[in-house]
Amino acid sequence: GLGVGIVGLPNVGKSTTFNALTKAQNAEAQNYPFCTIEPNKAVVPVPDKRLDELAKIVNPDKIQHSTIDFVDIAGLVRGASKGEGLGNQFLSNIREVEVILHMVRCFDDGNITHVEGDVNPLRDIEIIETELIYADITQLEKKIERLKKQAKGSKEAASQLIIAEELYSHIGELQPVKTFEKLDNEAFLILDKELRFLSNKDVIYGANVDEDSLSDGTNKYVEMVKEHANSVNADVIVLCAKIEEELVGLSDEEASEFLSDLGVQESGLEQIIQKAFDKLGLMSYFTAGKVEVRAWTIRKNTKAPQAAAVIHNDFEKGFIKAEVISFSDYVANGGESKCKELGKLRLEGKDYVVQDGDIMHFRFNV
Ligand code: GDP
Repeated sequence: GLGVGIVGLPNVGKSTTFNALTKAQNAEAQNYPFCTIEPNKAVVPVPDKRLDELAKIVNPDKIQHSTIDFVDIAGLVRGASKGEGLGNQFLSNIREVEVILHMVRCFDDGNITHVEGDVNPLRDIEIIETELIYADITQLEKKIERLKKQAKGSKEAASQLIIAEELYSHIGELQPVKTFEKLDNEAFLILDKELRFLSNKDVIYGANVDEDSLSDGTNKYVEMVKEHANSVNADVIVLCAKIEEELVGLSDEEASEFLSDLGVQESGLEQIIQKAFDKLGLMSYFTAGKVEVRAWTIRKNTKAPQAAAVIHNDFEKGFIKAEVISFSDYVANGGESKCKELGKLRLEGKDYVVQDGDIMHFRFNV
């Protein structure tokens, strides 16, 4: 469930974006021998400049990034929740991801047809989001039927039924689950955990623009998407999927030259990956040695033993202490030995909450 699902109407640039992500996966694939390559899934390295800074100090044989999964969920169209296209199958794929990357067409191109006839990002967003709400309504109706039967014999079911019916009247007005006024209610949380409401998931809008408006930064469609995103507290990343596809094949230097020629600071795809990582509630800590400098992925607010388990279960079972150097100390002092000398290496116990960028070394019993 730690993935990002890419959704959007046909011909908005989903496949182009997904291809760019797949290229990014393949560029690093030799570092991940154990992940199987699936056609609709890309295991994508999370860009992190701190790894390069560490590598300059340690000079390792290889560098390994944190990764996140992107899933291509093609085929969502108007009427998907009623079984249009391959509708319901796609909707159940969305259920499994935690964050939605909603690609929106913000480019005019007479040669590329739009399923709805013209370019109109707000209408497109509404079509997709309404399908998600319809899918939630269908799920919730079934659940309410079950709860009604159980409610006679179970207090728990009875109190869930109350919340379920309140939620039903909310989404019945085609409002997303995420604007329901009782999101903190315990019975709601149980319901959400079971049904994984599609319209309660975090959304990142990917505004797919043409090459020209990427450079000059003016695009009326993007303004519309941003205004909408603001009103629902979501993020917008502007990108040109076609350019991203070209960028992935380039070296870091070539890529930054290409971008600065276009007058752009940062690759949109990289911004999407970083934003998604953050929305998933993830962060990285590092290990730094001659063999590899490596980022390890953990949930925010993870304590040292559970963070250690990401490397190996035995590290958690036999956990004694963690040697910790903060990223800024490590870099400022040119590595571990100077940090030790200056007392910047801390010994932390099992209640230590690992901080983003910590350089960790675990002591454990075997
Ligand atoms: P999907 O149906 O959403 O997966 O859309 P595709 O990624 O297949 O893109 C549909 C068409 O739009 C293809 O011909 C792409 O080359 C084109 N396209 C995608 N992104 C861009 C873009 O940023 N600019 C332009 N001009 N065309 C794009």
